[in-house]
Amino acid sequence: MNGNCHFVFAGAVGVSASLLFGLDETQTTLMIATSLIGGIFPDIDNPKSNMGQLSKPVSTIIGKIGNAIGKSGTHHRGIFHDPMLYAIGLIFTYLYFPPLIGFFIGAFSHLFLDMMNPSGIRLCGVKFLRLAKVPSGSKESVVLTWIFTFIVLGASIFYKGTFAENSAMILSTL
Ligand SMILES: [Zn+2]
Repeated sequence: MNGNCHFVFAGAVGVSASLLFGLDETQTTLMIATSLIGGIFPDIDNPKSNMGQLSKPVSTIIGKIGNAIGKSGTHHRGIFHDPMLYAIGLIFTYLYFPPLIGFFIGAFSHLFLDMMNPSGIRLCGVKFLRLAKVPSGSKESVVLTWIFTFIVLGASIFYKGTFAENSAMILSTL
């Protein structure tokens, strides 16, 4: 999926998480902002992506390393598209630095959308994960993103505050 799709969907996921967890205004702002950054972060290994443009010297170096180990072009999805990386990050932030949780939620929204592409993603660099074969940047990918966006927003409005009590402990530190 392209950067715009990731940005829109990550924003929606950030809003949804805020609704589900019953966050206040400050927490919601932080959740959405970090989710948006997390939503475009995984493409840091692709110098042509939004995230790659923002972090040019870094993304160029990461891209070159990727090329050297054979992860270029459509196969650029290496370590930064590995769910394991973000699962570990999510556990650490949950335990030690909850304000950054939104970043990892956003990153997962990115991986979810990328699973809709023919090139998919890989778990632990091995297990191939793909849910559909919608080409990145196609009209279909945009439509699909909006469908997911409305589903996520609709569901969170319906289930608003469902996790508010369970998350009270985490939120007190947010
Ligand atoms: Zn990606």
